[in-house]
Amino acid sequence: MDLSFYAYLQNAPPAIVLSPDILRFTIITANPAFLEATNTRLDELTGKSFFNVFPENTLVLPPKKVHSLIDCMTDAILTKQLKILASQRYDVPVWGTNRFNTRYWRTSCSPIVNESGDVQCIVLTILDVTDDVACSLKKRFVLEVAEERREATLQIEERLRLAIESAEMGTWYMDVETRGFVPSSRMKALFGFDSQEDMSYEAAIAQILPEYREIVTKSVEAALLNCIPYNMEYPIMGYHDHKIRWVRTTGKRYEAEVEGVAHFSGTIMDITERKLEEIRKNDFLSIASHELKTPLTSLKASLQLLSRMKDNPTAAMLPKLINQSNRSIDKISNLVNDLLNVGRITENQFELNKSVFSISRLIDGCCDHVTSVGTHQLLLEGDQDLKVCGDEHHIDQVLVNLVNNAVKYAHGSFKITLRIESEYPMAKISVQDFGPGIPKNHLDQLFKRYYRADTTSIQNSGLGLGLYISTEIVKKHGGQIGVISELGKGSTFWFTIPLAEFQNDGNTNVLA
Ligand code: ADP
Repeated sequence: MDLSFYAYLQNAPPAIVLSPDILRFTIITANPAFLEATNTRLDELTGKSFFNVFPENTLVLPPKKVHSLIDCMTDAILTKQLKILASQRYDVPVWGTNRFNTRYWRTSCSPIVNESGDVQCIVLTILDVTDDVACSLKKRFVLEVAEERREATLQIEERLRLAIESAEMGTWYMDVETRGFVPSSRMKALFGFDSQEDMSYEAAIAQILPEYREIVTKSVEAALLNCIPYNMEYPIMGYHDHKIRWVRTTGKRYEAEVEGVAHFSGTIMDITERKLEEIRKNDFLSIASHELKTPLTSLKASLQLLSRMKDNPTAAMLPKLINQSNRSIDKISNLVNDLLNVGRITENQFELNKSVFSISRLIDGCCDHVTSVGTHQLLLEGDQDLKVCGDEHHIDQVLVNLVNNAVKYAHGSFKITLRIESEYPMAKISVQDFGPGIPKNHLDQLFKRYYRADTTSIQNSGLGLGLYISTEIVKKHGGQIGVISELGKGSTFWFTIPLAEFQNDGNTNVLA
């Protein structure tokens, strides 16, 4: 090896010269930079096997990578070409301690070939790349954390999407700057638009019922400009179907993330059922108190007059006042009964006390209060021998309610027809009046709790509970209830209950 090589080596980056004896790799020499970098002395190195001085356990890389340095050196000798190992961990011992400094090295193995073409030695040049590796490790860590976060966000978004779908929620997105508005198909459907149709923000606002429009737009602006959470309930009229729906919307302004845009987005859901029930319940409470107040006031007046007459038991007014008081008490107890019934029915706390009875006999007995007044004529048609199985008291309640409604709502109609038919295996009982009839859009609502559909100008008293209670009673018997009505011609309310002959035991109906 010529002197110029050694001279070059002295000032070169850290390098160690090894003889090409594969597997042993005897150390020939090393330059000062190498000794400094690896914290070794030349006399400790020369003549020794490379892997004895730098044993595998200090080359703390996974075994595969440790062997790759041997492979790299062997390769360089066999191919007579420069081989590079991009980054290899070799921990440098700290003098006077048993600690090590973690370092990463880029190693190049250059074979030195003599004139006859034989490999004379190999030079391992090492370059400390710890900072680069740390930097890329840090980068990798940052990327991994970002990826984990992205995964977590995706999972949350997916869960949210499923929740939104299962709750049939709509969603919307609005660019804070451009005010570009993107509604989901479900939101379009709630506003009565087709899913392929465009629905601008202005078009959506136009469907909100006028009395709510301003408050909604103001809340949107407050959310957009002042980041105030947006949470509203309001009614809309469907663009194509003209249906009134109540919706609940919640939204929030989200600030721009890196490269993103600030946006205002949220969810919208149909709350029509709940809202209508709420409105009906509120109406019901004021109607119920009003309904109770009328007989109570009359009872109070009668009692005041009676107390003035207490010393004159023969007064002519006495029987009239007693009758009036009794009527008021009856009204109050009927209302209270309805209220109690609805409570029991809602909690399914009523039991059927079943027996076999004749439906025509029940009809005969339950409508005296109507026939005795003489304002209406009750006609009974159909199979008067039919026997049914059910709770006589509860079926009586259903019949009385249907007949009372016919009297109450079919003004100007004198005739009320009751019909009994056999619709194997059920008996069908109908109550027909010839009053004004009921508009179609009310028909499927009538049987709901608190629903009142008074479309006439006459104020009829009622709590909107009779048909609901009747429905629950009929359903508990395994029957059905319904109505057919035509405006100007009248209405027929009907229900079915099991025929007696199909009764197997006290509780179960066995159909043939
Ligand atoms: P209420 O009579 O106490 O209001 P119901 O549940 O018995 O409650 O009836 C619900 C609504 O159905 C009534 O408010 C009325 O508008 C309508 N209705 C019931 N029966 C008739 C009828 N025979 N003709 C017309 N409307 C009726």
